[in-house]
Amino acid sequence: MGSSGSESGALVVGDPLVWALLVCIAALAVASVHLLRLARSRQRLRLQLHAASVQISDMQIHDPLTGLVSRAEFEALLESEVARVDQCQGQLSLLYVGLDSFRSINESYGLRVGDGLLVAAAKRLAGHVAQGHDVARVSSDEFVLLLRADQQAAMAQALAVQTALSQAFQIEALTLQLSASIGIACYPDHGSRPRLLGNAALAMRAVKHGGGGGHALYDPAMGVNSREQADLLQDLRQALVRHELQLYYQPKIDAKTLQITAAEALLRWQHPKRGMISPMVFVPLAERHGLIVDIGLWVMEEACRQAAQWREAGLRMRIAVNISGHQLRREDLVKQIEASLLRHHIPPSRLTCEITESVAMEDTALTRQAFERLRRAGLHVSIDDFGTGHSSLATLRRLPAAELKIDRAFVADLDNEASGAGGSNSIVRAIVQMAHSLHLRVVAEGVETEAQRDELLRLGCDELQGYLFARPVTAASLALWAEGDGDVAGSAFSPSLFQATASIPLDPAAPG
Ligand code: C2E
Ligand code: MG
Ligand code: MG
Repeated sequence: MGSSGSESGALVVGDPLVWALLVCIAALAVASVHLLRLARSRQRLRLQLHAASVQISDMQIHDPLTGLVSRAEFEALLESEVARVDQCQGQLSLLYVGLDSFRSINESYGLRVGDGLLVAAAKRLAGHVAQGHDVARVSSDEFVLLLRADQQAAMAQALAVQTALSQAFQIEALTLQLSASIGIACYPDHGSRPRLLGNAALAMRAVKHGGGGGHALYDPAMGVNSREQADLLQDLRQALVRHELQLYYQPKIDAKTLQITAAEALLRWQHPKRGMISPMVFVPLAERHGLIVDIGLWVMEEACRQAAQWREAGLRMRIAVNISGHQLRREDLVKQIEASLLRHHIPPSRLTCEITESVAMEDTALTRQAFERLRRAGLHVSIDDFGTGHSSLATLRRLPAAELKIDRAFVADLDNEASGAGGSNSIVRAIVQMAHSLHLRVVAEGVETEAQRDELLRLGCDELQGYLFARPVTAASLALWAEGDGDVAGSAFSPSLFQATASIPLDPAAPG
């Protein structure tokens, strides 16, 4: 009578159908757990991928070490800033900052210290731009700052950046010192958008070649490649014999009487094919290849000859000649100068030797001996470009200097009200006070505006030099101007003869 489960419709354990059902349920459960796991891991993977892509795109925007903007992002920013300038005529300048000999820091102290120093340097640089994304790290030890500023303000900023980077860094237990080479390129004067960054880099490299620790404006002649450099060097070797070198003269003016006190001789090279070449280009080349001594001898002889000629014409002004560090370290320098002076009957006290601060402050036995010889010969020594090097008061006191020339970057910054209490005004005031306490006369170079002139007078400068009074001109033009009793508006003085030709590119076909 007992009927089976299947017959009654109820499920009975042992029934194969039941078993099949159970197996199916179990399989489904396993599959769903598996699917759940798979979904979770997919979700995890998606999150990881997202995080990685955020990180990657952040790395494309930011440099992972310093947090500064990357090169690619900076190029994009530059693009839009250039477009803005094109539309509304704003100002735009790039400072390309290369840290000098940074490799030796890594080699001497290891990568961790090197990285720490890069991070600290980046922080200081960021303090000089308007917004965080205006400074980029473009290669391991190179940075670029984008300034909404004109050439003058950019030069002043370059000096401020240089000073900031030269202050000691405390990395772990170490006190480290840096120096930087800075190239400046302004839009649109120094190149179209695609060339601007490269041109700023070229200017930075030109500073490095000159020994580093300085800044320079881009000059088309800096773009010469190594073949052209070699050609230029060959031509420079011939320049003296071919009489292609020439001296231009720029007066120094007594701040109170506005009389000419002296004329500074500034070298020019009239190249037969390339036009006028700046001494900023060929003097470093001559220094690197041992030509500066012969060129310097020619400059001295020519300047003395000119001084004698002016004296005969009744013009009584001191003559100033720039002396390179390479000349200074030669034992026979003073003997050669004395010979030129003697040949042209010029008393040694009428000749000023301008020696840049960085060279003058080299505390080596050779420099000390050189200064001692200059002192004994009774020559008038001037410390040029003062404020850009690392002077110590003690060294300054030891030098037989009679004059100190404040670097033109400080003068340019006088107009800049933003420089505030710690700015150029207080620096110039401090330099004047210190110089006067050492009985040195103070000359301000690069005076371009009446406002700068008035401020320099107020700050106590003794002499002024700059485009406001006269650009460097030929000896004949200077004589005419001097005879005209300082007629500043004289036509020979408004458009600079040098400036008019200086911007001719070495290769006229080269793009902007
Ligand atoms: P430096 O001796 O400091 O000369 C001053 C430079 O500033 C000159 O540039 C001059 O033309 C320029 N300058 C003068 N007034 C103004 C101004 O108001 N505004 C601006 N923006 N610039 C002004 P230059 O003639 O191109 O000479 C550059 C440097 O080349 C000189 O700097 C000097 O260091 C070097 N140099 C020139 N002649 C000789 C030379 O005979 N021998 C050596 N060893 N170096 C020389
Ligand atoms: Mg000078
Ligand atoms: Mg100077």
